[in-house]
Amino acid sequence: MEYLNIYANCQLVKGANMSLLCDLQMRRFYHLPNDTAEVLLFLQQYSIDECIAHYGEDNREAITGYVDFFVSRELGFIDDRILPELTAMELTWDRFADITNVVIEYQETIDYTGPFFRELLDQHLEGLEIRFYQPVALPELKELLALFSDSTLRHIKLVLPYDKSLNIATLDELVKKHQRVKSLLLHSSPEEKLEKIFSDSVPVYYFTGEINSCMACGEIRAHHFTVNTELFTESLRFNSCLNRKLSIDQQGFIKNCPSMRENYGHVADTSLQAVLDNKTFNRYNHIRKDDIAVCKDCEFRYVCTDCRAYIENPQDIYSKPLKCGYNPYTNNWEEWAQHPMKQAAIEWYGMAEIIK
Ligand code: SF4
Ligand code: SF4
Repeated sequence: MEYLNIYANCQLVKGANMSLLCDLQMRRFYHLPNDTAEVLLFLQQYSIDECIAHYGEDNREAITGYVDFFVSRELGFIDDRILPELTAMELTWDRFADITNVVIEYQETIDYTGPFFRELLDQHLEGLEIRFYQPVALPELKELLALFSDSTLRHIKLVLPYDKSLNIATLDELVKKHQRVKSLLLHSSPEEKLEKIFSDSVPVYYFTGEINSCMACGEIRAHHFTVNTELFTESLRFNSCLNRKLSIDQQGFIKNCPSMRENYGHVADTSLQAVLDNKTFNRYNHIRKDDIAVCKDCEFRYVCTDCRAYIENPQDIYSKPLKCGYNPYTNNWEEWAQHPMKQAAIEWYGMAEIIK
């Protein structure tokens, strides 16, 4: 008897019609009909011959095709038994720090060396996104990045307006000096393109759209999906955007994300501990994709980053992200901004002019 052994890092996620097979090691996904997913689940318990007997000879070719596909993509292998050594993957997620990710909307009048920021940098931070809506002088940018040189940050994303003076050679030099910078997005660019700097390790995305406020955030697109153990396991238990995130908006107000209306004080006179002790601040952490309308039936729910700032029904914190055009019941993508059901929310958020 031959059995298909599927590697533990291959996780199957069922949606309303389709499933997603996530290869968390190779960081790829495969979009499959639910019928195919059912066969794969069957093969995790029974031999290939038993599977053919169960689904009928008519399906022999399809079933052996699935098995060949799995073996050829290194998603599994054939053996004369299901190997008990292939233990299930540990899918828990935890972090030492109360805050792991920070978003800063840069404003030159804010003092980023004050007590609030010193407390924040003691938090074992992992990720930082700095958004510049206006052009910034290179010395100013270097000075800001220098503040994070001794931090625990592992990655910094810079969102900057396109500026001729920030050419590839200049950005390369900047990133070599500040190696925590792992990606750059240059908005308002004359063309869409992707360049790589620092020995091809740091992407620079040139984006023609203008990002001049936080309202540009929250778009859900298939090319934004990320397949990795980190996001997959965090999404199983926590919110995939706002869990352990803190933001400082352009005015210096402390928020969950810059797009949220509520704030928890100003960086000039608020302690980080007071923010962390505020139960309201943590209210988004535990809203999982499995709790959100429509997303809970979507096969992409553990590879898709959530958005709680812009939602279809602003009165229902569990409603679907506004800026997602995917329908998991039909498996079609539509332009979200044109959808009739979304017009009331677009109006409510005051973004009708911006998305024209
Ligand atoms: S909640 Fe939405 S708007 Fe806020 S950071 Fe996340 S994706 Fe962006
Ligand atoms: S329906 Fe939800 S999980 Fe699916 S793509 Fe849209 S936002 Fe992501």
